[in-house]
Amino acid sequence: MADSSRGRTGRYHGMVLPSAEIAAFTSTGLLAWFALACVLASATAVALYRRLSRRLHSRLDAAHSQLVELRARDSLTGLISGPEFEVALDEAVLACDKGVAPLALLYIGLDDFRTLNDGYGHRVGDAVLVEAARRLRQGVQGGSAVSRLGGNEFAVLLRTDRAHSGAAAVALLETLQQPYAVQELELQLTASVGIAVYPDHGSRPRLLGHAVLAMRAVKLAGGGAVAHYDPALGVDMREQAQMLQDLRLALERGEFHLYYQPKVDAHSLQVTAAEALLRWEHPQRGVVSPAVFVPLAERHGLIAAIGSWVIDEACRQAAQWRDHGLRMRVAINISGHQLRQDDLVEQILGALQRHGLPPARFTCEITESVAMEDTRHTRAAFARLQRAGLHISIDDFGTGQSSLASLQRLPAAELKIDRAFVTPLVDNPGAAAIVRAIVQMAHALGLRVVAEGVETETQRDALVSLGCDELQGYLFAKPMSATALALWADRDGEDLARPMFRPSLFEATAPCR
Ligand code: C2E
Ligand code: MG
Ligand code: MG
Repeated sequence: MADSSRGRTGRYHGMVLPSAEIAAFTSTGLLAWFALACVLASATAVALYRRLSRRLHSRLDAAHSQLVELRARDSLTGLISGPEFEVALDEAVLACDKGVAPLALLYIGLDDFRTLNDGYGHRVGDAVLVEAARRLRQGVQGGSAVSRLGGNEFAVLLRTDRAHSGAAAVALLETLQQPYAVQELELQLTASVGIAVYPDHGSRPRLLGHAVLAMRAVKLAGGGAVAHYDPALGVDMREQAQMLQDLRLALERGEFHLYYQPKVDAHSLQVTAAEALLRWEHPQRGVVSPAVFVPLAERHGLIAAIGSWVIDEACRQAAQWRDHGLRMRVAINISGHQLRQDDLVEQILGALQRHGLPPARFTCEITESVAMEDTRHTRAAFARLQRAGLHISIDDFGTGQSSLASLQRLPAAELKIDRAFVTPLVDNPGAAAIVRAIVQMAHALGLRVVAEGVETETQRDALVSLGCDELQGYLFAKPMSATALALWADRDGEDLARPMFRPSLFEATAPCR
């Protein structure tokens, strides 16, 4: 077959070329074009690749720095994370070593946070944490670092020396203890603060641990306070742990007793009621005050069992007194934890029924700060107590921040003025003015007023003239065992200045509303 290209002629850029040459030229040209295209394509591809890779890199860089940022921050509160805090601590220690700035490490735990989380749910808990973090950040000056190191625990680095660290910690504590407005709730909480100052309270590796130890000691003592690290704390902590072990066994070992302190009518001096005050007779420590072990029992979930023992024992004793002709109202103290128990009222009613006592002769003393919490739980608990016909008394009045409106809402029958206003009554005209105002307000709301901690006759006379209805204190009787109270009452009438038991007085303290 003849080559079809042979014998052909053609023009190329004005030149006449034979067809074979044309063919050779064309294929060479094509090759060249192809090569050029390849070069161009690969150059474009390289440029494209470079551009893409640059873009990818910058995206990766951004993602990486975002990741670093995320790792450096606590996602809930936005505070710096644990590793970042360690870095800040290293820098602060170095600065302190060089004499640039002093250093105090604060470890802060919100008290009873679990109860808040369980009671109101995690959303409310989270909102409180976010707000607490904001307050801490706002409360510290430049050069300080704030971090959340545990669920409800924060660490703060302050460029402060030992002398000023306590005041700085108290200022932060006060900020944290302001009410929290979350989802139409007003929540009040306390916090525990441990302080370790560098280098007095420990070297770099021990500093955080020592601040934590100080914080735990504050918590064990009831919280809501500040403490510096003390080398003895390690020992104290062991002691506290031992005390907790003993407290767990105290009920079954029968180490609890109730003491009773009478309340007397301010005018007739007749005994109106006996307040049950819990005592723990520890085999080695002797009598332990409820101010020491009640907060411990609350913190470790033991108060429900102890509280129900108190309810039953007080009812049993009231029935026994009644059977012996000593008739008086019996009061018990109810802690905030107990008030949140769903079955509290049922427990009280069950005990009253078992011992054949009417609810109106049983008083529940609830401290002002707990009574004013005004949470869903406290409102429901007060409503149940009122429906059950129990007598409610607001204890330690004057120490909290009650408003007239919140006081009016409470179904209380009695208000006990705190000893803090009774003790300075004679020397301090301000205290007298406060007592007068409390009495007037309480009477306007139909509440009977009891003054507690009355120790002298001058105080008694002042309280009577200020209009108090009932008095309680060492002047009349110290808290005593049930047997001692019966003996004390037996001498009824011997001395006219001494309080007397009169059955009719039951009605005088019946609920007013
Ligand atoms: P509270 O209910 O306000 O009791 C009054 C405290 O003041 C009692 O201390 C009492 O012994 C003391 N006191 C009474 N009169 C005077 C006085 O004239 N001068 C002085 N200086 N003190 C006086 P106590 O027994 O150590 O109780 C302390 C607190 O422990 C009570 O304060 C109460 O809040 C709590 N508490 C006591 N028993 C129980 C209980 O069974 N359950 C609960 N949850 N708390 C309890
Ligand atoms: Mg009381
Ligand atoms: Mg009191």
